[in-house]
Amino acid sequence: MDIKKLENFLQENNLPKFRLGQIQKAIFTDGAFSFSEITTLSKELREKMESQLRLLSFETEKVLVAKDGQSIKALLKLHDGDLIETVLIAPKPGIWSACISCQVGCAMGCRFCATGKMGFKRDLTAEEITDQVLFWRQYLKLKAKSEKLKAEEVSTIVYMGMGEPFNNWDNVSESIKNLTDEKLFGFGSRSISVSTSGIASGIERMANEFPQINLAISLHFASDKKRDLYMPVNKKDNLESLKNALKGYFTITNRKVFLEYIMLDGINDTALDAKMLADFIYSIGSTHLLHMNLIRYNMTSDPPAGGLQPSSKTRTQIFKQELEKHQVHATIRKSLGEEIKAACGQLAS
Ligand code: SAH
Ligand code: SF4
Repeated sequence: MDIKKLENFLQENNLPKFRLGQIQKAIFTDGAFSFSEITTLSKELREKMESQLRLLSFETEKVLVAKDGQSIKALLKLHDGDLIETVLIAPKPGIWSACISCQVGCAMGCRFCATGKMGFKRDLTAEEITDQVLFWRQYLKLKAKSEKLKAEEVSTIVYMGMGEPFNNWDNVSESIKNLTDEKLFGFGSRSISVSTSGIASGIERMANEFPQINLAISLHFASDKKRDLYMPVNKKDNLESLKNALKGYFTITNRKVFLEYIMLDGINDTALDAKMLADFIYSIGSTHLLHMNLIRYNMTSDPPAGGLQPSSKTRTQIFKQELEKHQVHATIRKSLGEEIKAACGQLAS
């Protein structure tokens, strides 16, 4: 829903201000499926809205639900025919996290990522970004209706779908403002996380503009030589530049940052890699604010791209122990949604 268009519509039709509040509540909080549902409005007005405005900026092309029902992926067709994916994951039963896309494709070219392989097509508008959340709110409402249960809520939002948020900051920041606007979506800042491949200038901007929003960094490698090879972003913003950006971030926000580390068999999972990772973390300082997440690598193609394979459970466990030897605590994250290719790095339209 284009929020400005809605405001203009009400102005053009000389409708009083309180109407806007009513409509916003019906659409954003209650997840109405159509304008005709908003029965506090006259029939004539509802019809006019149906013909002049649209609730969602895309059509649903396909919805895939994993067998356990804990992850759902939707393929959405934008007005120009481009396709994006958006995912709803329940890390715990009844707690839903919407993983949203901010671009069609991605220009960063990380070698392990399916979105990166697509290349960059275009930025999403703020409307196209927040509409994914609206879509999931509506979805959960419909699901509850069909199961005759009470509707569950989208609890958290993560910018971890397709695209690099700091390459589309104008629209991403506008979408965050709308998601945290109490009159609109009403999410708390702490329920929203932005993940970046490590664009230093973006980290600085986020600290200044949204110090309460969670930040995650896709680190994945603790040596420039390896990071250069798999993540082209490192040629511009290397580990030193990332370190300085994080120091600056902590000075402003004093908030916890998540460092993401995908476990690649024989590539970044040796004892030496753990030692380099610990050294990097200590070089940043504020170690109590850095949280390491070890993530299973999801195969993006079959046969595996560039020979990349996930580290085994045992190797991942040993890596975690190696980190602990250096007083670095890490969490092993289980990957949800692999079966429907809805896991991180598997999104490609
Ligand atoms: N562009 C942003 C956010 C989207 S990617 C970023 O890179 O941070 C979301 C997360 O999935 C990132 O941490 C990314 O590195 C990770 N990822 C990419 N490909 C993956 C794969 N094949 N398996 C597991 N995680 C992957
Ligand atoms: Fe883009 Fe993130 Fe994928 Fe890298 S991991 S290509 S930055 S979406």
